[in-house]
Amino acid sequence: MIEYENLRKSNQLFFEQYNDSFSEVLDSGWYILGSKVKKFEEEFASYNGASYCVGVASGLDALILSLKVLDIESGGEVIVPSNTYIATILAIIHAGLIPVLVEPDISTYNIDPEKIRRKITDKTKAILVVHLYGKPCDMNSISKIAEKYNLKIVEDCAQAHGAKVIDKNVGTIGDLGAFSFYPTKNLGCLGDGGAILTNNLILYEKLMKLRNYGSSIKYHNDYIGYNSRLDELQAAFLSTKLRYLDRINQHKRTLAAIYHQNLNDHIIKPDIVDDLLDVYHIYPIRHPKRNKLKEYLLNHNIKTEIHYPIAPHKQKAFSLYFKNETFPVSEEIHDTILSLPISFSTTADEVAKVCEVINQFGR
Ligand SMILES: *Cc1c(COP(=O)(O)O)cnc(C)c1O
Repeated sequence: MIEYENLRKSNQLFFEQYNDSFSEVLDSGWYILGSKVKKFEEEFASYNGASYCVGVASGLDALILSLKVLDIESGGEVIVPSNTYIATILAIIHAGLIPVLVEPDISTYNIDPEKIRRKITDKTKAILVVHLYGKPCDMNSISKIAEKYNLKIVEDCAQAHGAKVIDKNVGTIGDLGAFSFYPTKNLGCLGDGGAILTNNLILYEKLMKLRNYGSSIKYHNDYIGYNSRLDELQAAFLSTKLRYLDRINQHKRTLAAIYHQNLNDHIIKPDIVDDLLDVYHIYPIRHPKRNKLKEYLLNHNIKTEIHYPIAPHKQKAFSLYFKNETFPVSEEIHDTILSLPISFSTTADEVAKVCEVINQFGR
């Protein structure tokens, strides 16, 4: 069986160091927001070329706090791609703001800058971009629009740790960059975790309080804060894994190149865009008979996933939102997309085999 992901295998290289970290943290007697978190925050900021990093409890929290810290009046509109993972849209709603969905570009699967302009109103306050599947958005065009209409930019980097636009890391181009360290992400820990990057000292200082009940001095609360803190254990694991992030990303890029070269042209492959370093969190292909292809691959002992089967605007949770609106590009993507194995434990031989089997599909 060629697995889609096997976290035990993908983490095997780190077992020894993780065991050492566990003993160290256990022995320290300090388990939340301590020296390990501080160290990881400094390392992650420095890796990305950002001035500041704030560790939080999850990717969703990183998004919610990024929106909250901008102090947008309730009812403000936030532009967001119509084909993102649901967390991006939930964050806008939890922050008391209104999500305005914009269709993606059918070849990059990222938000279409041309379509952003049409959705801007007097109430638009921010653009929440998502570097989906590990591919950076067209940040040059988006930054120009944001500047022209005086909008903030928050980047959802949950799938794009280490991805770059020319030489700039995602998460450092907009006002704030939100990351998830959920175990399957390119930089994943052994539980939940997240972080926010910013170059703005004022936003940084406020975020440091917001994540901890609005307080930086014990029992002195300056804001209506949250409990969204990163564990010492997770931070210690992340410090170890961060040293391997480039290697993890390079492994995924090598596998993507094998897919790109070997898959027949009847398969729609991910676009390769000049000047963008894609870290292939996911290797998404598209095919009109996606469900049949998925079943065929499983019959040939190859596991795949669908990211994602249901478009956000069709989710029951959003039945009161996005009424009278249609998102045909997003639906086309959701109906035809299929994720092939591309994890840190997937081998080049396995990818070659997957290509061989797919190329025989429908013949
Ligand atoms: C994983 C993910 C999130 C949420 O991260 P959690 O750590 O699970 O809260 C947000 N946005 C995108 C695009 C994601 O893939």
